[in-house]
Amino acid sequence: MSSTPSPTFARGPLNLVNVTLEYPDGDGTIKALDNVNLTVQAGQMISLVGPSGSGKSSLLAAAATLVRPTHGLVIIDGTDATGLSDKDLTALRREKIGIIFQQPNLLASLTAAEQLIIGDHLRGKSVRAARAKAAELLDVVGLSASADKRPHQLSGGERQRVNIARALMGDPKVLLVDEPTSALDHERSDSIVRLLRRVTDDFMVATVMVTHDTEFVPLTDLVATMRDGRLTAPVLTTV
Ligand code: ADP
Ligand code: MG
Repeated sequence: MSSTPSPTFARGPLNLVNVTLEYPDGDGTIKALDNVNLTVQAGQMISLVGPSGSGKSSLLAAAATLVRPTHGLVIIDGTDATGLSDKDLTALRREKIGIIFQQPNLLASLTAAEQLIIGDHLRGKSVRAARAKAAELLDVVGLSASADKRPHQLSGGERQRVNIARALMGDPKVLLVDEPTSALDHERSDSIVRLLRRVTDDFMVATVMVTHDTEFVPLTDLVATMRDGRLTAPVLTTV
């Protein structure tokens, strides 16, 4: 065997290739993303930092296949999402991508366990399998004792844990997290980021976390900065 490194592009579960995203802006357009390239490997966690309006949420939306880029490719676990129909895109998202936004967006009338089970129903799984999976994931996030609680009976940190467990229900390959701690105090923020680190390792997902709090960057493997829609090459964090 040759010891020459393979020239092939090392593809992780998430690949953005030359992604540009333009929004209409008055008479012209604004480039929310400007030729962004990013690869995230399984078990890798990247922090995305940068000023407000620099395009961080746009990058997550493109990676989540919630918006189609104007140019470029979004490759999820080997499939180019930009070539898919809306129906196939929805299926891909459900199967491969876990999304965790700032506000947990839990349904007020459902228990913690039900928040998880309802999504699996859409994936066509049996209720029995979904119940077992939900119980397992509530245990992972430390909420076994709160499975029957409704959102108003949970703290902000606990609601975010339910959100994280819910995002893992479909066994995603990619986890996209937008400012998960913005509504939480310091101690709860720290435990949420540590939990995201642990699930990235244990479930071997490729995680991108947008954060304004640079204190948590050392818990991630790499940090990349956005400015005016452009992304710097990710650099190793110093631990
Ligand atoms: P960040 O998350 O870093 O604050 P965003 O991705 O939300 O940045 O925004 C990047 C740029 O794109 C900003 O100039 C914002 O105003 C613009 N933008 C974001 N979403 C939309 C949209 N749906 N329509 C028009 N412009 C948008
Ligand atoms: Mg944002």
